[in-house]
Amino acid sequence: MGLDWYLVRCKCGHSFGHRKGTKAICTICGSNEVTNVQQFSDSRLLANAVSDANLPKELAKELSSRLETKSAIEEKRHQGHISIRERIRGTLRSATDEQGVLRISAIRRELDSAGLDAESWESIIGGAELEGILVRCSTDSWRWV
Ligand SMILES: [Zn+2]
Repeated sequence: MGLDWYLVRCKCGHSFGHRKGTKAICTICGSNEVTNVQQFSDSRLLANAVSDANLPKELAKELSSRLETKSAIEEKRHQGHISIRERIRGTLRSATDEQGVLRISAIRRELDSAGLDAESWESIIGGAELEGILVRCSTDSWRWV
């Protein structure tokens, strides 16, 4: 019994089988630029090899691209969430003086140097008060809780 059956791979990545003596034409892209991967004596073995060569790769590719997209979105959301929050916290810490007091002028200055909108200090402080991390101690100053 001769090795008349070939498992070949096209340049497009698709694997398929063909019989010795016939022209190998890719069933996906129609190209004949194929590489012999393995020879078989039996067309059934070849058929199994073809499905093995194609299926897992396509499934893995599809799955990994789905996962990539999903994790990229998650990561972005996560990073965006962390960064603005962390930046504000860092800004508030920098604005704290030796007595542990935050004053509006210092907060505005630090927001500005952090590249954040200094005019948003009121809502940032308001948010920090709501979160219970800052407490107002005079008309223009706050303390960490
Ligand atoms: Zn092809």
